[in-house]
Amino acid sequence: MAKKGIRFVDIKEKLNHKTDSKRSIKTNKNITLKTVSKTKDVFGHNLKLWKLLEHKIEKILNFYQYNKIETPMIEYTELILGGILKNEAENKKQFFLVDKVGEKSIILRPELISSMIRSYFENKMQNQNQPVKMYELGQVFWDKTDSIFSQFYQLSLEAIGDESPIVEVEMINTIKKLLEEFKINNVNFEINNIGCEHCRDLYVKEIKKFYKEKKTKLCSKCKKALKENIWDIFNCHEEKCKALRSGLTNFEEFWCNDCKNHFSTIVEYLEFLKIPYEINSKLWGVGQFENKFVFKINYNEGDKKKTIGHGFRHDDLVKTISNNGKHGMGVTLDVNTLFKMIRDQKADKEDKDFSVFLVQIGDTAKRKAFEIVENLRKENILVKTNLSKDSLRAQIAIAEKEKVNCILVIGQEEVMRGEVIIRDFQSGLQESVSFAKLIPNLVKRKNQIN
Ligand SMILES: [Zn+2]
Ligand SMILES: [Zn+2]
Repeated sequence: MAKKGIRFVDIKEKLNHKTDSKRSIKTNKNITLKTVSKTKDVFGHNLKLWKLLEHKIEKILNFYQYNKIETPMIEYTELILGGILKNEAENKKQFFLVDKVGEKSIILRPELISSMIRSYFENKMQNQNQPVKMYELGQVFWDKTDSIFSQFYQLSLEAIGDESPIVEVEMINTIKKLLEEFKINNVNFEINNIGCEHCRDLYVKEIKKFYKEKKTKLCSKCKKALKENIWDIFNCHEEKCKALRSGLTNFEEFWCNDCKNHFSTIVEYLEFLKIPYEINSKLWGVGQFENKFVFKINYNEGDKKKTIGHGFRHDDLVKTISNNGKHGMGVTLDVNTLFKMIRDQKADKEDKDFSVFLVQIGDTAKRKAFEIVENLRKENILVKTNLSKDSLRAQIAIAEKEKVNCILVIGQEEVMRGEVIIRDFQSGLQESVSFAKLIPNLVKRKNQIN
């Protein structure tokens, strides 16, 4: 709005002189425009897919009475490293810890199960119907040396407050149905009974007795396992160790009646529900809080067997965390595999989602465009537009990039006549329709495509 004859020069000079040091914005060379290593941004198409995945998971799990819970991203370190990840506690570098002077240490959660157990007790869920079944889908933070990301999504299901083997059966059945929903059909559950503290103690004694004279014949890893985590012995693949091990009595012989019945009930139900399973006596779990029942979920991708999750009963963990004799059963799924499945399935469907681009020319048309966009959205027609652009050519260029089905054009003249031009993107054919007939016309086109 500058008028001829008015001089701004003096004021400008004064301003510059007075406020120069405050106003000038210099590039801060210490700022790196990069995400922290092993993290990434999620946006656009991928973010849409994540939301779709979330929605799908919620639909299925609600149906099987697993209620969604959202716990904080931070927890007290002792809850997690004093419990479920006790074995990992020594290697603190792989976790994100906040240690403030005089305050309890806080951890960016590396897993979700501990938080759900904490919440169960903190929110007195013991007073609800048991078991309390819940699930959480959320970001966790764990910087393992061999993993690509240190912040990633995890999905965990948890059932607390019931010792019945039906809890296991229901959980496995729910997971099978969930995976089927993601078109992962050839699933197989590897299962094992790993006993309770009672029968495990007896077996540990037996193992120690068995190796007492034979220790010297073992590899160094097995020797270490005998002293530290005895169950690691079963993970050794060295021929000499395997040969020696074949003489050891099977754990089955030491199962107590309670564990025996628990396991056989699960097997009976899996048979009844026609859920494919395989008993793997070498499946031991990884921590020290698994008891009675562990399972691993595998599926075949081509001729490759892939593991998509692990589940385990963890009554001992619940007792450790809460000092209370409750029971718990949980499973954690690799949600990235689910994401990949949904992305691949969506890839060929992507072009079929009906959408239009609204081009407007002139101020009157721009105002009308706002109204049309809202009306189309109400009818669930995906409408794209760029109201800040005025030129026809610029808007058409955007529409072409968006790969829409139809372009709607509205200018001054169209507004006067109460019409919109619809141009079919594929055929190039166009027609003018009245405002009143626009929605029925587009709905018809949408139905023809889907
Ligand atoms: Zn037992
Ligand atoms: Zn060995």
